[in-house]
Amino acid sequence: MSTAAESHRRDEVAAALAAVEARITAACTAAHRDRSDLTLIAVTKTYPAADARLLGDFGVRDLGENRHPEAGRKADEVGPGPTWHFLGGLQTNKAAAVARYADVVHSVDRDRLVAALSRGAEAAGREVGCLVQIDFGPMFGQASDGRSGTEPKNVADLAAQIAAAPGLRFDGVMTVAPLGVDPAPVFEALVRCSTELRATYPAAGLISAGMSNDLEAAVAAGATHLRVGRAILGERPPLR
Ligand SMILES: *Cc1c(COP(=O)(O)O)cnc(C)c1O
Repeated sequence: MSTAAESHRRDEVAAALAAVEARITAACTAAHRDRSDLTLIAVTKTYPAADARLLGDFGVRDLGENRHPEAGRKADEVGPGPTWHFLGGLQTNKAAAVARYADVVHSVDRDRLVAALSRGAEAAGREVGCLVQIDFGPMFGQASDGRSGTEPKNVADLAAQIAAAPGLRFDGVMTVAPLGVDPAPVFEALVRCSTELRATYPAAGLISAGMSNDLEAAVAAGATHLRVGRAILGERPPLR
């Protein structure tokens, strides 16, 4: 039995998800790409496990979170099924805990994080996929905030460290377009990085780019994974 509020939420999320799907399909058509080459990650941060389950009912298998321990609690509550993507800043001292439930960590940006994730993955007997998060801010005239990825010149070194680390798998690259900058050339720069890396790591094909506001630019540039929160679940309350 479901309450009126639950059924209202179901309709609301279904409609928003359909609208996002329509945007992705249109962007694929414009870019002559196949929808099946793209994975939609629904970002459930700040939203309850009930919403994550709802997305599962609608066939969304990839869910994104950006904070520990909220992410771990939700993964426990939802249970087996989804692929969990950890996005956003990760403190080294929380990395081992995140490695127990995250399937892919999109925000690997420093040596110490590689080492900590590796220890956590090994202790949990798991393999964790890792993306190097790249900060293109400085390249596009923005000051780096120091917490949104590593500079492009460090990417090859971090990729090598991930590839050599027990328990970790190097899966590819990720970026968040800097605020106030046209996202298209940023995502194109990310795709060029990915192409260069794949000469050495042919299996590292994930290109994570594009959010509620700029998913079309990401599809056009060649992203493989879109991370969409607000456009599916609604505006989030401001962060505490
Ligand atoms: C929150 C978040 C998203 C989703 O952003 P929306 O604007 O809600 O679509 C994507 N990527 C990262 C790293 C995030 O933290």
